[in-house]
Amino acid sequence: MSSRSDSNRSSSLIRSAGSASLRPRELTAGRDAHPAGARATISIFDARTPTLPPATHTNSYALGARDVVLVEPATPYEDEQRAWIEWARALPSQGRTPVAIVATHHHIDHVGGIDVLARELALPIWAHAETASQLPDVTVARRLADGDTIDLDGPIPERWTVLHTPGHAWGHVCLWNADSRTVVVGDMVASVGTILIALGDGDMRIYLEQLERLALLDASVALPAHGDPIEEPTKLFRHYVAHRLAREAKIASAVVAKGANGVTDVELVTIAYDDVPPHVWPIALLSVQAHLAKLAADGRVALRDGRYASAS
Ligand SMILES: [Zn+2]
Repeated sequence: MSSRSDSNRSSSLIRSAGSASLRPRELTAGRDAHPAGARATISIFDARTPTLPPATHTNSYALGARDVVLVEPATPYEDEQRAWIEWARALPSQGRTPVAIVATHHHIDHVGGIDVLARELALPIWAHAETASQLPDVTVARRLADGDTIDLDGPIPERWTVLHTPGHAWGHVCLWNADSRTVVVGDMVASVGTILIALGDGDMRIYLEQLERLALLDASVALPAHGDPIEEPTKLFRHYVAHRLAREAKIASAVVAKGANGVTDVELVTIAYDDVPPHVWPIALLSVQAHLAKLAADGRVALRDGRYASAS
């Protein structure tokens, strides 16, 4: 991502040191021409996690200039947890006080350290009720619902609004700071790797709806769990939607082409993902199944004896 400044843009993203190998990294996200108070104070700490390749790390974010929430207690690895705790414990030396840990959703590469990190730092855990229900052994002190606000007091107070954005996971939440037009997006999009929509946890139709909703925010910066901050995220949200719909169209036309005998989901992977190497197909199968569920819900395909055929 470019760090050049562009006077046509209404936002800026400044990183200290300029090296992805240094952690933590500091961000100032906000409008150049906006009065004081329109900026958000954000630090990033990327920890190694068992995530979906090619991603290898999950970003945690410290949001707030004095009261701070720590987003994504991600890493299950002891050495990384120690480094994460050190990072959190160093925040008070900058006048910043962690008040809670927020999990965007329940996937292991987001909550792998939730017990240890909350206990070591004596912080409450905040998450959506659907996430809490997936983590029966974890005490969720505050259940975050759509529209809830997280008010972080400080020299520059920050209000982060909870957006419940299911589709990748039922309890997925994003955090939106309207003043700085910054959105923490969890696993809704990524700048490294792809977002998996798998049946059970996910729903393709709802996921696409929520991406459209994120596009309507007109955010300046999106902070993903995997990869660098995303400038001009609206373009990326729309690109994701277009890309998924193009894949869906390919699946739908393959189903039509196979006629009344229909086609299995495994066969459809080889047709709809003929542009990706076969080692990706097992993961692609999950996406095909999610698309087929959406096409079935839309009344476009029907499932009979394990084979999908055109519903019309
Ligand atoms: Zn996830």
